[in-house]
Amino acid sequence: MVGNRQPEVNIGLVGHVDHGKTTLVQALSGSWTDQHSEEMKRGISIRLGYADATFRHCEGLEEPKCYTVEEECPDGSESEPLRTVSFVDAPGHETLMATMLSGASLMDGAVLVVSANEPVPQPQTEEHLMALDIIGIDNIVIAQNKVDLVSTDQARQNYEEIQEFVEGTVAEGAPVVPVSAGQEVNLDLLIQAIEEEIPTPERDPDTDARLHVARSFDINKPGTTADSLAGGVLGGSLVEGQLEVGDEIEIRPGREIEEGGQTEYVPIETSVRSLQAGGETVDTVTPGGLLGVGTGLDPSLTKGDALAGRLAGPIGSLPPTWQSFTMDVDLLDRVVGAESGETVDEISTGEPLMMTVGTATTVGAVTSAREGECEVNLKRPVAAEPGAKIAINRRIGARWRLIGLGTLKD
Ligand code: GDP
Ligand code: MG
Repeated sequence: MVGNRQPEVNIGLVGHVDHGKTTLVQALSGSWTDQHSEEMKRGISIRLGYADATFRHCEGLEEPKCYTVEEECPDGSESEPLRTVSFVDAPGHETLMATMLSGASLMDGAVLVVSANEPVPQPQTEEHLMALDIIGIDNIVIAQNKVDLVSTDQARQNYEEIQEFVEGTVAEGAPVVPVSAGQEVNLDLLIQAIEEEIPTPERDPDTDARLHVARSFDINKPGTTADSLAGGVLGGSLVEGQLEVGDEIEIRPGREIEEGGQTEYVPIETSVRSLQAGGETVDTVTPGGLLGVGTGLDPSLTKGDALAGRLAGPIGSLPPTWQSFTMDVDLLDRVVGAESGETVDEISTGEPLMMTVGTATTVGAVTSAREGECEVNLKRPVAAEPGAKIAINRRIGARWRLIGLGTLKD
């Protein structure tokens, strides 16, 4: 597709707060993010922290100098686009592990940003690497950032600390690229490492579309007359298949209805009226990056993220909706992010858990717990395939802390 710059791969930006994730995304995405339409900008990209970057190549230059995000090469010729990637900027301050994990379930690889001027690891460096480890994201590049602030000896010392820290984890053997996001130093080397370590996954266009809804909106200005109302908009990420304008889709768990004191969820059916990807209006979308899906839904249904956490796909193709489920449980040795390496106690019957499945976060009460397995009753149901990965959080002190990974059982 000529001119279509839909991103084809999602790359998580993870690491401790203030280590330079956002600065790095800005340095790499250049002017491209400015090309998002105002609607995408306002509504979806910024709030979710996605930014697209097009990696480009200058002919006649050696590696890594040939890699750039600029449209113009040093000799004045035009650079050749290689691919567009989508960066998912993990939330920084007030790190809520579940948010990170729900983003992570949509990541094909990750750049771990580590500041060169602080001891390794800082708490969220460890926390995020552990999350990548649990989810099994092993296409990782480590950006050793802020090298402009340290001497060569300090940089070398910090590099050793990083190597030691990632030993035995999913990031063992990942390239460590010294960069300065702030001064835009070595970005070419970093792009080369990303090109080599985080390939675009092979996707089967014939499988049923699976859209993870992360946000939903009513894009109409107050006071819009009924006949000029735009339908509800879904923001999210397609993880499989493709979507086309005109497709009939189903959304699960659908709409919440109250009946005789009981809350029920009714699947919603609608059609795809418009699609936005890579900042452009398109007819067809494939996995990668963040999508805006205009639907025929009454916008009151999509207002204020009302449909966040839902799953969408062709009518009749979606997996079951679970009000309660059984999961296999792998507990961590230590509580993630805890100060003193607190160990994780077994899950017990009756305790509340917070679980993230895809983009859905739901709280549930454990109705039965055995070793390696437990059954939970959910406050809000989720739609998911058996085998889906579940991030399990327990309330410890004032925060939900990641304690393990579940696998949804049949
Ligand atoms: P985030 O919390 O990981 O997203 O970090 P930010 O990108 O917001 O950066 C935190 C601070 O570090 C900001 O003041 C940046 O200007 C600064 N910073 C980021 N990268 C560099 C760098 O390479 N060198 C220097 N000296 N400062 C940097
Ligand atoms: Mg940031």
